[in-house]
Amino acid sequence: MWSGIRSFHERDGPMVELPQIKSPEPTEIGSYFIANYPPFSAWKPEHVPSAVYALDGPARPETPLGLYLHIPFCRKRCTFCYFRVYTDKNADEVDVYTDTLAKEIGLYAKRNVFAGRQFEFVYFGGGTPSFLSNEQLLRLIDRIGKHWTWEAAREVTFECEPGTLKESKLRTIRQIGVTRLSLGVEHFDDDVLVANGRAHKSAEIERAWQWAREVGFPQINIDLIAGMVGDTPDKWKAAVAKALTMQPDSVTIYQMELPFNTVISRQAKESGDAPPVADWATKRAWVDYAFSQFEADGYRVSSGYTLVKPSPASGFVYRDSLWHGADLVGTGVASFSHVAGIHYQNVDAWDSYLERVGRGELPIARALPVTQDQRLIRELILQLKTGRLDAAYFRTKFTVDIASRFSEAFESIRRDGMGEVAGDEVRLNRAGLLRVDSLLPRFFESEYRGVRYT
Ligand code: SF4
Repeated sequence: MWSGIRSFHERDGPMVELPQIKSPEPTEIGSYFIANYPPFSAWKPEHVPSAVYALDGPARPETPLGLYLHIPFCRKRCTFCYFRVYTDKNADEVDVYTDTLAKEIGLYAKRNVFAGRQFEFVYFGGGTPSFLSNEQLLRLIDRIGKHWTWEAAREVTFECEPGTLKESKLRTIRQIGVTRLSLGVEHFDDDVLVANGRAHKSAEIERAWQWAREVGFPQINIDLIAGMVGDTPDKWKAAVAKALTMQPDSVTIYQMELPFNTVISRQAKESGDAPPVADWATKRAWVDYAFSQFEADGYRVSSGYTLVKPSPASGFVYRDSLWHGADLVGTGVASFSHVAGIHYQNVDAWDSYLERVGRGELPIARALPVTQDQRLIRELILQLKTGRLDAAYFRTKFTVDIASRFSEAFESIRRDGMGEVAGDEVRLNRAGLLRVDSLLPRFFESEYRGVRYT
């Protein structure tokens, strides 16, 4: 049974206080999180033929393959959201979109580079995949199944917004093979949820959580965000305490960022006032606090954003495969792919996505062939997000000694007190891990340092 919020003061063990922040770093408008390399701004329409050519290249049975399905619908737009999402589509339009998504997967199934390959992992992201009704979901799976199945997948992740869930929908989600349910909680305080435009409140989180546990998923993750509009030290401590009572299999904690095209960023620009979110030092202190509380409860930090229960069921195949160079077929409007050493992204407009797939064409808008050196840098920066690098992995895969190739970057991290190199192991300490994205440009080629990350 759900036991309600166990207050911070009821927790066992020594009480940890949030530190006072002496030198705030304001949360400026702009992206902080680094999801890929080279930056998206380097991906160009003139490289699309390279992507199409790569899809007809030889099969790559040795490379793990994943499928990403973008479900771009939400009940309302959160004020910090910068994703391609729609809040105004009716049921017929949703049907047209999901049919097009299945058709796009059918176009990929015929390409030579995928011959004989099965998906090792599948990810339903958005937007809000749980926005789909039971019928829409079953119809989508049925249509995709005519082209490709994911019976061999080690992991199928499905993102949910708590307020869209019913027990029957969770049963459908489990029935289609989802193994990892990811619940977009973000916070438990109703005032904070409302202030940030979330569509759900705490009562819906509570209900959804009960049902999800009853239906029984191998893994349930909850997402939290530190530093949302209206958050305070007491509210954050209560949110961490509540998350602990739930005992999720994994917890993902983001630090609130304000990319350019969010409602909050626009309002701040128009008013000339600073955006009303916590500064970076505060957010790091809050995540540090959450990490410490979960660690005291037996959880393990598995990246700068994630804690897991130490059990075999708490792995994250999607993340770990991508961070080690897997191929990913990204389907849906504005989706990102990486196949056979080429990055590419789909068109980001509803009409052109539907039209192009309707004509039997892959809807690719921009691409970038990635050099061998850039693949090395990409894997290195992504794996550094775990707080640890294994030099032997890079020697074997790229025949490069990362300690000497990136000696200046590693030395600067050591000098700044963020981590160290010891033999074949690079390790970030907690201070480094909590600001890992800001350390990554040190490994970039010079032309990509300081460029806008969109
Ligand atoms: S639920 Fe997620 S995708 Fe939808 S508007 Fe909010 S942040 Fe954006």
